[in-house]
Amino acid sequence: MQKFPEKSWHSLASTDAVSIFESHESKGLSEQEATDRAEQFGLNALSHAKGQGAVTRFLLQFKQPLVIILLIAALITLFLAEYIDAGVIFAVVVVNAVIGFIQEDKAMKAIEALSHAMTSEAIVIRNGEKKRIASEYLVPGDLILLQSGDKVPADLRLIQTRELQIDESALTGESVPVQKDESMLEEDIVIGDRRNMAYSSTLVTFGSGRGLVVATGDNTEIGRINQLIAAADILETPLTRKIHHFSGILLYAILAMAALTFFIGIMRGQDLVEIFMASVALAVGAIPEGLPAAITITLAIGVSRMAKRHAIIRKLPAVETLGSTMIICSDKTGTLTQNQMTVQDVVAGGQHYAISGIGYHADGKITPVADSLDTTANYSLQMLLKAGLLCNDATLRKDGKGWRVEGDPTEGALIVSAMKAGYDSRTLEQEMPRLDTIPFESARQYMATLHDQGEGKPRLLLIKGSIESICVDCATIMGPDGEPDIPDPGAIADWVESMGEKGLRVLAFAQKEMPPDTTRITHADVEADILFIGLQGMIDPPRQEAVEAVAACQAAGVRVKMITGDHAVTAGAIARQIGLCGDTCSYHTREVLTGRDIGELDEAQLKDVAEDTAVFARVSPEQKLRLVEALQRKDYVVAMTGDGVNDAPALRQADIGVAMGLTGTEVSKESADMILTDDNFASIEAAVEEGRGIFDNLIKFITWTLPTNGGEGLVILIAILLGTRLPILPLQILWINMTTALLMGLMLAFEPKEKGIMLRPPRDPSMPILTAPLIVRIFMVSLLLVIGAFGLFKLELVLTGGNETLARTLAVNVFVFGEMFYLFNCRSMTHPVWRLGLFSNPLLWVGVGIMIIMQLIYTYLPVFNTIFQSAPMGFKEWGLVLTNSSLIFILVEIEKKISRKHSEVNR
Ligand code: ADP
Ligand code: MG
Repeated sequence: MQKFPEKSWHSLASTDAVSIFESHESKGLSEQEATDRAEQFGLNALSHAKGQGAVTRFLLQFKQPLVIILLIAALITLFLAEYIDAGVIFAVVVVNAVIGFIQEDKAMKAIEALSHAMTSEAIVIRNGEKKRIASEYLVPGDLILLQSGDKVPADLRLIQTRELQIDESALTGESVPVQKDESMLEEDIVIGDRRNMAYSSTLVTFGSGRGLVVATGDNTEIGRINQLIAAADILETPLTRKIHHFSGILLYAILAMAALTFFIGIMRGQDLVEIFMASVALAVGAIPEGLPAAITITLAIGVSRMAKRHAIIRKLPAVETLGSTMIICSDKTGTLTQNQMTVQDVVAGGQHYAISGIGYHADGKITPVADSLDTTANYSLQMLLKAGLLCNDATLRKDGKGWRVEGDPTEGALIVSAMKAGYDSRTLEQEMPRLDTIPFESARQYMATLHDQGEGKPRLLLIKGSIESICVDCATIMGPDGEPDIPDPGAIADWVESMGEKGLRVLAFAQKEMPPDTTRITHADVEADILFIGLQGMIDPPRQEAVEAVAACQAAGVRVKMITGDHAVTAGAIARQIGLCGDTCSYHTREVLTGRDIGELDEAQLKDVAEDTAVFARVSPEQKLRLVEALQRKDYVVAMTGDGVNDAPALRQADIGVAMGLTGTEVSKESADMILTDDNFASIEAAVEEGRGIFDNLIKFITWTLPTNGGEGLVILIAILLGTRLPILPLQILWINMTTALLMGLMLAFEPKEKGIMLRPPRDPSMPILTAPLIVRIFMVSLLLVIGAFGLFKLELVLTGGNETLARTLAVNVFVFGEMFYLFNCRSMTHPVWRLGLFSNPLLWVGVGIMIIMQLIYTYLPVFNTIFQSAPMGFKEWGLVLTNSSLIFILVEIEKKISRKHSEVNR
């Protein structure tokens, strides 16, 4: 790969930089040149952060306390000349590390791949044309447009800026956005002060700009540090932390117990080697070593299940939190609705027109609703449509599937309505070239452009936006002939209201003549003396899937709230269509509130209002943040969607910040926990459903694994306290733990979601993982395993006249098969097993099948008989094993039934 010269671009004039790269200040590179450079310089992508190497991560597997105990045990065993035992312990440790490493690696890769799956895009100018392309394909010399919400795609020398502010915390750690401009700087200054540069991966928080790509991929500043950043701890969640903590405490308790056993044994004068091995066995048996891995794997499986349903998890804890989501606050436009806008009603010159046709092709007619009028004679109607076309940043493109909007669909609809009147954007833009732009920001709710109307003529300022941002009670309104008129008081509000009632999204338009020498416009220009032209109202039909998903959420005890920037009447109409609130809900019944309404409330009042209201309209991004906080103060777990730059704080504050993959800004995606690849509300509901299933599976694994550890620990402890022979030897315990967790327990991670998972209320996050009934069950099963293993061991000794080897083989099989039967119990915490569909988790059967084979090998293969001191069992022993296992299975089902009754009575 070739490299472009590295220069201190900030100390060169931007024109010099442009010529060094043989680019063009306004036209950019040619498409051909860009292709050639892509070959020369490679993709604009960071090579993967090195992080910890595979070897380090493999070695880290040995850093766990349990493994260290095992290693020490193995060393001492070796020292005691118990070679087989030492060998097996070493083997187990290594196998354990290898499996742990592979699983962790797989999980990590899967999660990482997903978070990288969302490619970012950039707007580039090539051959003088604006194009949106994947940032990967940018080359040095490319000309880039930046706007608020973008992630800077490469290192740029800025050529032109407009109030450009960039958050460079990714690079410098400084979180206050930096004001940028294009002027030349001294050579000798640090990155943080290079105000005429924009660096890859930093975020545009305000304004807009144009820049020249001077470095791509690993040659960028962030590319350089990327090599140094270690892979973050992406596998950590609140639950894994809790378990980690719990395991820590458990470890000390177990070590203390092991030490105690050792001490008692010595006092009794037992054989030193045997008593030492027994203590090790106790420790090994009682520690739930499979737990952390099982949790990671279950979560990773959850992440990929969610991805299949269009929800990309960026932060692993979200998988867990989703299961306890209590409130979803959703945008309207695009999430609950289709974002397929078509202008249907327009009002201009005090007259009402209907526009036919649907979608983005320009077939349709504009007809006056009162039929005495002539459309072509109406100057204000023409002006309204022209303003919609000129004050517009979207483009329509035709591809295989028909017409498609590039940019904001709201603006796409405005192009279509103007085309239906015969206007064409290219021609019109040549007639009235744009000189300046104030881009749309949801906080201000309008966009404005300045146009040249020809030599000596006044320049024209065009504004489009929400009616509130343009004029609530306009002073002057354009008459049908274009002359200013005094409007009917209330007439405009009535039009807005009647369009809103139909669920139409209403945009208001205004204009203002400016002096012929004006080249720049400011917010102040827009705020005074403007002439109202008219309104365009567009439909945006609700998504059918959203209607169903809202109903599903409501059945699941998850409340859905609409929080939109749109008008209150429109919001209410759409909310009714989607089933978010009752048939009568509207702004007038105060069931729909606006940002202004909630602005008047103090924190305490807001808490209640936020809880009770389903629809919020004309809400600013800051108010979104206030709403999330208010709901959280009531202890709700809140998911919140957002797409704009200013939504970032609300997304971060929410328990689950949800960004839009298709229409969201890069900034919102960076702040989100989850990204929807289809922008669809139904995908949030799907993720909640999956989240619940995953949490269920985690609980299932925990409930399954703990009795084994409890049972094994207890067996040894009791044997030592009673001073009898060990029913299970240390090596045998290792065998049980290794095989059962891997072949059986892990399979619970693949359990499908239970039926009715969306018919129960959300899980209370403050509820402990193990509830009282589960603890009872865990104890019960532990005891049954202990009694079975110990009892049958003793019985077998009596029956065979002291054949210890056979008795131990029996005890081991009691454990393994007991766990196997109990595994089926654990497929559901509440439902009886036969209701689940016996084969709905095929992997479980695969695991069980292999486990049975392993156990037969353990029992019958001579090599194994030697290593593990096992012995072939007869029919009688198998009979005992199966009877005991069935007994466990039946008792647990009975206990489930009783607690089911109990919880029904309580409800
Ligand atoms: P939402 O996404 O919740 O529908 P927005 O913040 O996108 O809300 O829009 C709020 C209001 O801003 C709209 O009702 C409309 O009046 C106005 N608006 C939306 N898009 C544009 C735009 N591209 N240009 C000008 N005004 C717009
Ligand atoms: Mg929007």
